[in-house]
Amino acid sequence: MEKAGPASDTFGCYTFSLGEMQKRLPRPIYEAIQSTIASGEPLDTGFADEIAHAMKEWAVEHGATHFTHWFQPLTGATAEKHDAFLSFGFSDGRPIERFAGRELIQAEPDASSFPSGGIRSTFEARGYTAWDPTSPAFLIYNEYGATLTIPSVFVSYTGEALDKKTPLLRSMRELSRSARAALELMGRPTSGVNSTLGAEQEYFLIDRDLFTLRPDLEVTGRTVLGTTPPKGQQMEDNYFGTIDDRALNFMGEVETEAWKLGIPVKTRHNEVAPHQYEAAPIFQAINVSSDQNHLLMDLMRKVARRRNLAVLFHEKPFAGVNGSGKHNNWSMADASGRNLLSAGDSPDDHVEFLFFLSAVVRAVHRRGDLLRASIASAGNDHRLGANEAPPAIISVFLGSRLTEIFETLLAGKDISAVQEQVIQTGLEVLPQVMKDNTDRNRTSPFAFTGNKFEFRAVGSAQSNAMCMSWLNIAVSEALDEMWSMLKTRLETGDDRNVAILAIVRDVYAESKNIVFNGNNYGQAWVEEAAKRGLRNDVNTPAALKALVTDDAKALVEKYGLLGSHELDARYTILLEKYNRMIDIEAVQMIRMAKTGVLPAAYAQQSLMAEAWKGVNECGIDAASQKAELGIYSGLVGETIDAIDGVRQALASAPDEEEGPERADWCISTTIPAMARLREVCDTLERRTDEELWPFPSYHAMLFQ
Ligand code: ADP
Ligand code: MG
Repeated sequence: MEKAGPASDTFGCYTFSLGEMQKRLPRPIYEAIQSTIASGEPLDTGFADEIAHAMKEWAVEHGATHFTHWFQPLTGATAEKHDAFLSFGFSDGRPIERFAGRELIQAEPDASSFPSGGIRSTFEARGYTAWDPTSPAFLIYNEYGATLTIPSVFVSYTGEALDKKTPLLRSMRELSRSARAALELMGRPTSGVNSTLGAEQEYFLIDRDLFTLRPDLEVTGRTVLGTTPPKGQQMEDNYFGTIDDRALNFMGEVETEAWKLGIPVKTRHNEVAPHQYEAAPIFQAINVSSDQNHLLMDLMRKVARRRNLAVLFHEKPFAGVNGSGKHNNWSMADASGRNLLSAGDSPDDHVEFLFFLSAVVRAVHRRGDLLRASIASAGNDHRLGANEAPPAIISVFLGSRLTEIFETLLAGKDISAVQEQVIQTGLEVLPQVMKDNTDRNRTSPFAFTGNKFEFRAVGSAQSNAMCMSWLNIAVSEALDEMWSMLKTRLETGDDRNVAILAIVRDVYAESKNIVFNGNNYGQAWVEEAAKRGLRNDVNTPAALKALVTDDAKALVEKYGLLGSHELDARYTILLEKYNRMIDIEAVQMIRMAKTGVLPAAYAQQSLMAEAWKGVNECGIDAASQKAELGIYSGLVGETIDAIDGVRQALASAPDEEEGPERADWCISTTIPAMARLREVCDTLERRTDEELWPFPSYHAMLFQ
């Protein structure tokens, strides 16, 4: 059997890495790129021709024939348009490979077909893509060669962000600015702060032959019908269980390819549900991690196809079976790589750690509604709105030890006494607490896990870019406020650590409502959260409303994340996407019920009727068989009614596809009508001959 060999042998060989750049570029240019990556400052465009040339030489040596700007439009997927390097020589007209600096820096895809939420029609602006030099270019191979793929942003000529990546880069810049200012004030200057992301990706893997027999999975990503088998995951024997060969070989192939692309995939394991798995890379700067998560998902789709498997990224492909998320491990690191959410060794480190930790608590407390909005989608509603996964209520888990430290601070009136007490009793044990961080809570949507936060409510199919942008901006805002507070205190002559702890105390006092260390799944928390005044937006339309408040608009404008009309545009696009998805699911359901379920049910009815007739003719009492047929026929009638219910819900929905009224209609009418149809179809499935049932069952997909 072919072996992949050590990851380090091939790691990044398909990327135009810093190492390649160092080999191929003059030193000043190489150093300029390096400092752009470290600080986020723009790169001198005067270097473009030389960089483009080196990149092309490298790519062509590796078999590339084409290049493309690769970007993340608001569809949620990635987009690319390839151009060959082929050109004709200026003087002799001979064919050559050419790649100019301007082609590297900027390209102009036909932007009119991407969603803009009305921005372009309003402003008549064309869109262009621009190279993001902080995320490495890479090669994607096909049977005939490779495409040099250049991570890019997508903006309009008037500067509006038309993609998900532009705001992310802006948010990283803002967070860096605020964190640097805070560090400077604390006497720890640094040249830049990177926000970091390690995104755990959950997914299902099922046989492709079964997948192609499920039009709902193919079209909507989830099964809109299907009865749950008696053994779901109740036995809890799957998590971290032995990985079956087929899945393991799939993972092996994905990882081997991923490493070549410079994606540091590290961990793989079985998840809670049967045929559910997780892949986790080593964390990196958010923009790189976010790009690579897209790339990893693409790679998984391709490898699955090759192996006659289908990979499912939907948040809830199977009703009654655990759903999938992305767990976004997030932190901040200074220019030397020091993790700002790591407790460190000295008391000075400890107070600094508490400063940054409380900034995140404050950020989530203040901007939890936007974090919730950033992960809202039709798919994720099945997780967040239901009694599983993290709930829709955003809260922060700190663990009992850290909470105790904050509470001790809070209890003290005289802050210098508290400093003594906290440092003696709490902070000195911090490093041990951190090392032995067994205090784990898997139910929290936003949990501190020792040296980073884990945002677990993110949907498995979603792009990481927007939710991370909001988180960065929220933390940046908190840090700016805390910076002013700290500055005032220091100016009054307070000792550094006393001043910092005082601010930590004040911030915690104001934000502690968001901290919850208990079981987030229970009804008790829903009630408690309501008492605390925390929001519980159980569906997408409700959650998205947070995007169009004056408060949100003021925030994005202040931090230059988006213009307020850009925020409106995004609200419109997200709502439209939601409405369309519900419609597609409803139509799909009707089609399957009419063309699959009813014909199977009629066949079953004939079988039952024939059997009853035969038995009856023999003079045997078959009353119970007749009764059974009556019940079955009743269900068939209900199915016909329920189909009509969904049809009517669709027909009488408010016209405007992107409107909130339409979304409200989905919630009040279409979704309940679908639930009714599903229930009766699933009941029929349990009462119908397996051979007659037209769609692969949950049992076949998940247990065979
Ligand atoms: P856990 O057991 O808490 O899930 P792991 O060490 O397995 O912890 O890490 C899970 C993910 O968190 C990995 O992707 C890892 O790279 C990432 N991670 C670790 N430290 C950081 C950090 N400072 N910033 C962002 N992500 C991090
Ligand atoms: Mg984890």
